[in-house]
Amino acid sequence: MTAGVLAVQGAFAEMEAYWRAKGFDVFEIRQLADLGRNMDLLALPGGESTVQGKLLKDLGLFEPLKERIAGGLPVFAVCAGMILLAEKIENDPSVWFGVLPVTVRRNAYGRQLGSFKTVGEFDGKDGVTMTFIRAPAITAVPPDAEILSVFDGAPTAVRWKNIVACAWHPELGE
Ligand code: GLN
Repeated sequence: MTAGVLAVQGAFAEMEAYWRAKGFDVFEIRQLADLGRNMDLLALPGGESTVQGKLLKDLGLFEPLKERIAGGLPVFAVCAGMILLAEKIENDPSVWFGVLPVTVRRNAYGRQLGSFKTVGEFDGKDGVTMTFIRAPAITAVPPDAEILSVFDGAPTAVRWKNIVACAWHPELGE
């Protein structure tokens, strides 16, 4: 299996290592030509969603990626990646791909709590380390989304159709 990791900004190296450790062949998506490669999974790393979104547009990657995601390509999105997918961002007028019908709020876990770790259940598996880094909150999910993890009573990871989106960083946990 092959994972294409968006590598224009942010924590893409960690994302690459994560999928390699799972036995995937990994390549970086930096320019349009990279999309010519076979890809079973698209991984969108954490980072700064505004910067990533702008770079995607400047590099001509935005529309082709959006088409692939809307067409059913499996996507694993973390933090900024989830913000790029969200249909609505409460505290930001931008909508990027807008293909995932959730509402998010950027930098929702506050200043002091900007970065923290917790251990919890993800997709029925207990003891998962969850690293939050200026993470977005998920404030609305559609009824047909599956909630994969919860923190403080609010969903922090969801699966919807071909997309798994996570507010915390699985690739930084053990
Ligand atoms: N705070 C970042 C944003 O709003 C996301 C942080 C992250 O990806 N760890 O885009």
